[in-house]
Amino acid sequence: MEFEGIVTSVTAYRESDGIVNLLTKNGFVTFTAHGILKINAKLTSLCQLYNVVKVDLSQNKKSAHYTLQSGETLKSYKNLYENIEAMLTLGFIIELAKKTIDEENISSIYEAILVCLDAILMQKDLRTIRLAFLSHIINNVGLTLNVNECVRCGSKKGIISLSYVDGGFVCHKCLLSTDIQHKPLYIKMARYVMIAPLKEVVEKALPEFECNALFRDFYHFLSEQLDIKLKNFELLVKIL
Ligand SMILES: [Zn+2]
Repeated sequence: MEFEGIVTSVTAYRESDGIVNLLTKNGFVTFTAHGILKINAKLTSLCQLYNVVKVDLSQNKKSAHYTLQSGETLKSYKNLYENIEAMLTLGFIIELAKKTIDEENISSIYEAILVCLDAILMQKDLRTIRLAFLSHIINNVGLTLNVNECVRCGSKKGIISLSYVDGGFVCHKCLLSTDIQHKPLYIKMARYVMIAPLKEVVEKALPEFECNALFRDFYHFLSEQLDIKLKNFELLVKIL
């Protein structure tokens, strides 16, 4: 049986075997890859983390367990292994996807991952790619922020805050002492990344300061709403 997907984890098993998790457009597939930790160099390079691969798997009739027979690498990140920020960005995207994918959003999230992986390979702006993917996830888990009008009065004018508690923009008339006042560029970029197509956003290099601020704020919003924490976020913050 043929599957196409992204290698999301490789775990050592017995002496030289690996257990590989593959994210496909229909969900996760787990298979055993014999000899990849020692003997079989061709399959070793196939089963590298974040590779996009096409694999041929055989299925055990009794246990339904899959075993790798052969395969080809469609995309590899070998040239980026030394680039810590690129690797942490890949890690962040996959970790976030793993925690938020469900039956309903899987095809949209899978497509989004491929768009981001391509952008990373094309050496587009990593900061923008992370923010774009995070915004896409927020939209896909039903936490969409209202970036069209003031969430309190409906006004489209005088927007000066993004309230994560209320889930959207706040105008100057409705601003409370507990709201944080944001700069116009922050407001403009928040609207842009929430609304623009992912494919378009990842081509850009958004302003560094606002991009980092939005990335942190969006992450904390999502993290609190879904009660999740990402290891790769903590590592990224250290190098930002
Ligand atoms: Zn208002």
